[in-house]
Formats: sequence, C-alpha cells, structure tokens
Amino acid sequence: MGLLSLGTPLEWNEVSQYTDHVREHGIEQLIHIHNANKDKKNDSLLWGDEVEYMVVELDPESKEAKLSLRQAQILDDLAQAEKKGDLTAHNVVFHPEYGRYMLEATPAKPFTGDFKDLLLVEANMATRRTIAKEHMNSNEFPLTLTSYPRLGVGQFTSPAAEPNGKASRSFFLPDEIINPHVRFPTLTANIRTRRGSKVAINVPIYKDEKTPSPFVDDSIPWDRDLYPEDANAREGAALPDHIYMDSMGFGMGCSCLQITFQATDIDEGRDLYDQLAPLAPILLALTAAAPAYRGYLSDQDARWNVIAGSVDDRTPVERGLVPADDINEESEDSEVAQKAENNENSEKNEKTNGKAQFCSSQSNRTKTTSTTKYPSVKANSDRVIPKSRYDSIDSYISGHLKGSASHFNDTKLVINKKVKKRLTEAGFDEQLSNHFAHLFIRDPIVIFKELLDIDDTKESDHFENIQSTNWQTMRFKPPPPSEGPNQNVGWRVEFRPMEVQITDFENAAFSVFIVLVTRVILSYKLNFYIPISKVDENMKVAHYRDAVNKNKFWFRTDIESPTSQPDTETEPSPGIYELLSINEIINGKADKSFIGLVPLIRRYLNYINIDLDTLCQLDRYLSLISRRASGELWTAATWMRHFITSHPKYNKDSKISSDINYDLMQKVYDITQGKGWDDGLTKHFLGGFSSSVP
Ligand code: ADP
Ligand code: MG
Ligand code: MG
Ligand code: MG
Ligand code: MG
Ligand code: MG
Repeated sequence: MGLLSLGTPLEWNEVSQYTDHVREHGIEQLIHIHNANKDKKNDSLLWGDEVEYMVVELDPESKEAKLSLRQAQILDDLAQAEKKGDLTAHNVVFHPEYGRYMLEATPAKPFTGDFKDLLLVEANMATRRTIAKEHMNSNEFPLTLTSYPRLGVGQFTSPAAEPNGKASRSFFLPDEIINPHVRFPTLTANIRTRRGSKVAINVPIYKDEKTPSPFVDDSIPWDRDLYPEDANAREGAALPDHIYMDSMGFGMGCSCLQITFQATDIDEGRDLYDQLAPLAPILLALTAAAPAYRGYLSDQDARWNVIAGSVDDRTPVERGLVPADDINEESEDSEVAQKAENNENSEKNEKTNGKAQFCSSQSNRTKTTSTTKYPSVKANSDRVIPKSRYDSIDSYISGHLKGSASHFNDTKLVINKKVKKRLTEAGFDEQLSNHFAHLFIRDPIVIFKELLDIDDTKESDHFENIQSTNWQTMRFKPPPPSEGPNQNVGWRVEFRPMEVQITDFENAAFSVFIVLVTRVILSYKLNFYIPISKVDENMKVAHYRDAVNKNKFWFRTDIESPTSQPDTETEPSPGIYELLSINEIINGKADKSFIGLVPLIRRYLNYINIDLDTLCQLDRYLSLISRRASGELWTAATWMRHFITSHPKYNKDSKISSDINYDLMQKVYDITQGKGWDDGLTKHFLGGFSSSVP
C-alpha cells in the first residue's frame, strides 16, 4: 500500500512560519540525492503505469448510480490480502487517492525493457480490476472514468452526505468525499486559505437546442450564507454560460493514466522529459474522456484545466489581481528567469476585460475566477505566477540546450532566487537549477509537525513536499535518498497528461504507445522541441470539444534532422514546426513530409528483432491509437456525448439526469467486462477490437 505520513498537520497560519524551513531543507535533500546519483550510469529501462478507479454503486431497482465512499474499508481489505501475499503474487498494488470513492492501482514491480513485458500490462490491468472488484460489495464496481458526470449533484454518494463541510466549504461537494486521512482535508482547507477564496472553476457549458442562453445556473445556492466564502459565487466567481465548480474535489476527484520510466542516467532522463513534453497536449486530446461535469455536458472534452483550477492556491497578488504593495505582503525571493517576449499567453492573462478574473494560461475558455473584491490590475509584477501549481511544464530541462535554451524556453519562468543560487553553488547547471528553482516558488501546503526536523542526508520528505505538489504534465523524479531500501531506483520521468480510458485494452494501448514512443525517441535520437509557448497554446486547444478532429496543433516536423539531435556535440536547432492535425501527427502527412508517430514505431518494430506474435499483439494497440487519431474511432468523450444526447430521456438541455447517468454507468461497466464492443454507438468507439485478456 502506498504509505502516507502520519502525524499532526499544521493549520495554514502555522504552515506559513515553516515554508522557508521546508524549502531550505528540501533543497539540501535534493542536493544530497543529486550528489549521490549524478554519476549513476546504465540503469535499465523500467516502467510502470498508474490507473485510477472510481467505485460506483449501481442499484438496478431504483436505477440509481452513486459514488461509494467505502475506500477505507476496501483498501483495508486489500491490505489484508497484500499481507497474505495475494497481491504481490499477481504483481499488483493499490494506493489511496484524493477522492474517498477512488483507488489507484499499479504493478507492484515495474515492467522491464523486454518487449514481452509490453504484453503483460493489459493482463495486469485486468487483474487489478478483478482484484479490486473482489474486495467490493456485489453492487460496487471499479470504473475507470476520468470525470464522474454527476459529481456534486444531489445525493450522489453512498452513504449520502450534505455539502456543508468546513474543509472545502463547497456548495456541491460534501467533505465526506475527501479521503479522510488528515493530509487530504488539510490540503483542501490550506489551498483555500492560502488563496483567500474558494477555488473557482468555470467550464463552458455545451449549448444544446433547449439550453437557456445565457445560461444562469439555478443549481447554485446563490444565497447560502454558511461560510464567508459563500459570497464568492455572488461576487463574480461563478460565470454565466459556465459550469461553476468550487472545490478541490472537482479536479483531484478526476481519474487519470500516468506512466513512469526509468532512464539510464540523469542526462537521458532530462532529454526524455523534454522530448515527451510537447506530446502532452497531443495525448491529452487523443485520450479525451471528460465531457461532463456536475450534471451538465460541457463544451470541452478533457479534465486538465479543471484540476489546474481545483488546486490553484495562488494569492490574488500571484494571480495578478492586485499589486503586491497594495496588500503589504513581504517581498519574496522570486524573480523572472526566462524572458516572455513571444508569449502571447501571458499577455492575454494580463487582460482582464473589466471583471476581475484570471484565466489559467492553458485555458482561456475554462476560467478560474476570483471575487470582484479585488480590483483588476495589470499583472506586471515579479510576484505574478502565470500558472497554477497543477499545469503544463514551464521549461525544458536538458543540459544539451545551452545556447538554444532561450529559443525554446520562451515564456516567463518565475524562480526562487535563493534556491537557484544554492543549486548553482552545488553544481547544478542552468536548466536544472532553473527547473527546481521554479518548482520551489510554491509553498508547502501540508506540513506534519513530527516531520519538521529530519536528517537531510537520509530523508527527502521536505523535497517531496514541494516536488509532489507541483502537478505538471511531466515530472522529473530523482532517485529516493540513497541509504533507503530503494537504493536501486534511478532517475525517472513521468508522463502525466493522459485521461484514463474506460477499458483495460485502451489503457494498455496508450501505455504501450508511450513506452514505444520513448524507445523511438532514444533509438532515432528524435527531436520534438518546439517553443514552450507553443506547447502552452496546444494545451489550451487540447481541451476543445473534438479537438482530435477539429483542431490543429504545433508540432515539429524535422524530427529526424541530424543537425538537430540533442547529443553532446550539437544542440538542437530552432527547427521547423507547423500546425498539424492529430491525424497528421500520429499517422503522418499525406505529402510524406512528416512520417507520423505510429509509422515511426512500426518502422522501429520491423527493424529490431521481435517475434511475430508479439508484433501482432502490439499492432492491435497501435491500430487503436491510429484509428482514434484519424477520427475513424471516437474518443471516450465523443462516445459519452453520443450516449447522453441520444438517450431517450435526454431533453436537449445539456442536463445529465440520474436515469441517463445510471444507464451510462451500467454501459461503462458492461464494456469493461468485454461486453458489447460492437454494439450500436460503441462500435464507433471500440471498433471491432476485443479485449486481449480472456
Ligand atoms: P507516483 O504516484 O509518485 O507517481 P507510484 O508509485 O504510484 O508513483 O507509481 C509509479 C509507477 O512507477 C508505478 O507503475 C511503478 O510500478 C513504477 N515504478 C516503480 N519503480 C520504478 C522504477 N525504478 N522505474 C520506473 N518505474 C518504476
Ligand atoms: Mg501513484
Ligand atoms: Mg494517482
Ligand atoms: Mg457534511
Ligand atoms: Mg504518478
Ligand atoms: Mg501520486
């Protein structure tokens, strides 16, 4: 089981006294780890996925679906099974997650670089689902849904709970949906307190024939006066024509699919981090599976900006809503390390069209708002942080960048100067010290009293406190402290943007695809660099409804150009990048000027010696990716939209009723069991494929 620190968490007013302590010791811990591991070479490829589940309770009599809050009991039962060795024998392990209706499962031991291991992941995922189910009640089902369509609507949990909790103070989500481990309610409360208001997420509503226009949400209890933050919605936090969400659970209560890889050494890890970063928005759009929030169909298909908004703990000054001196805060040691000359996004963020609001840079349509209490100002201070701590990455980190760094790292990068100075003294180069100095502009959100004073040469809690609450599209994971039991673990890179898919077949397909992408990147020394500002633009577009078919994305087309290989001799050239459809990125351009990622992988697989059986299996996964990219098959988001809008009880008003939701959940469960992949709408989504696991 994933371990969570036990102890006494500090309240926000106490945390703020220790933020420097945590950052200072966190950096010493990082330096210690870096010194111990910077010359470590030849670690083997290891990789593993993480799949997150929602426990959905289905009542066939009342035809109601609910989120079951039995996470703790289910995990306790799983822990018993683990003690008996039953989970390890199947190479699976379960972890707690933010939502009290959620679970996470991973392989207990990572997969290796052996091609045969690529064929193990789907069966391993199926085993995880089976084992999870065995530890649930007969009416509870582990479903891999990115966003639960009726999260926060009426009595959506089992047991029922009222939305009046003091941690989140949400209008819609009871605190009972939060994992009761003290870390999670404390995270929720401290984010709200640091920010100075409830988080505010506004997703554009999908306007159907009978959706009122303008849409003013009558499900918002506008007049509630239970907490001071209840005024936020009235004062402008809830926008017309949007689905308003006011709590961390709306984002952290979404599920995703993540993949972690071990690199041979720190340099390869840094290269891989950079090369995968431009793929993040592409894979977000291609895995899009989140079309509905709080009982409404939205006008976007992916969850990312919802989570970004859900943990946006930036103060009004950091969001650029009030000048720093207006509220007399002490000046911090932050500065801007990268120029933002080309960055239209930060320009746009500065425009506040009369109303005090701030748009996350990757989401000009999904808006995170603030209350009108703060007058709108031009956000030009060094204290302004353009993005939430959950967002796409802000800088490339490869040491090979050198002179071309400012071309690719072209957006505003706020860094912690003190941290940068210390890391530079300790021998970190420009890109790596900037990377960590940027992560370390954030405050720790939860601090356990008992863990304040720890041995910086043996522990990494303070480092991890900041590192693991920077939830970005990519994560560069240093090894754990060398003297622990994990001393064989190397430098790892995590790919984090993907939405979880409904079936194990699809989740395996996307996992395998990403693993194979890393193999072709390394084998062919591919170069996907484009300016970060272009990745940010792509991130925004990736959310749009049916972006796979309707939108274009910046992508580098001279990826095999020998002069642009990120090797030690030559640094990457600015390169050629153009706007491509996802079909062109994945399957290649019709004029053959760009080969496409799937053909590249096929070329690689034909080149290396790999048996026919393995090749055929892998080809099923590649075909799924290819057919999704071409638009022949629907994304999960598109399939759900069709399911909802063609339901006999749908009133063309964007509302997802309890009946529709029940039928959708039942259908989702059936297809996780391999049933009906070729039925009606579902054949457009899962095609003629079948699960590889009997
Ligand atoms: P986190 O939640 O911090 O991202 P998890 O432990 O939940 O991390 O999941 C990480 C994934 O990495 C799992 O699939 C696990 O099997 C895999 N993994 C574990 N050790 C290694 C390693 N040395 N290299 C690569 N992947 C690993
Ligand atoms: Mg995990
Ligand atoms: Mg997780
Ligand atoms: Mg309550
Ligand atoms: Mg992870
Ligand atoms: Mg985690």
